[in-house]
Amino acid sequence: MNPLAVLASLLTIGYAAWYILLCSFSPFGPCRRCQGTGHLPGRIIRRLGRPCPRCDGTGRRVRIGRRIAEYVRAEYREGTR
Ligand SMILES: [Zn+2]
Repeated sequence: MNPLAVLASLLTIGYAAWYILLCSFSPFGPCRRCQGTGHLPGRIIRRLGRPCPRCDGTGRRVRIGRRIAEYVRAEYREGTR
């Protein structure tokens, strides 16, 4: 096998493992809409910020990987009753 391909696959596996770990010990990530601040500039008066609707003003959001893991777990539970 091509050593470059081996390196690329190792990197991919390493990243996937890291992401799974990250999702398990820190299921929340920063909200992309408000960049983790929890506030968005107001529509009419910019200085009057409004809470971010996507994260309810917390600035944190459940990671996609965590949501997928929860979905898979729920499906598995439903299917193996
Ligand atoms: Zn937000």
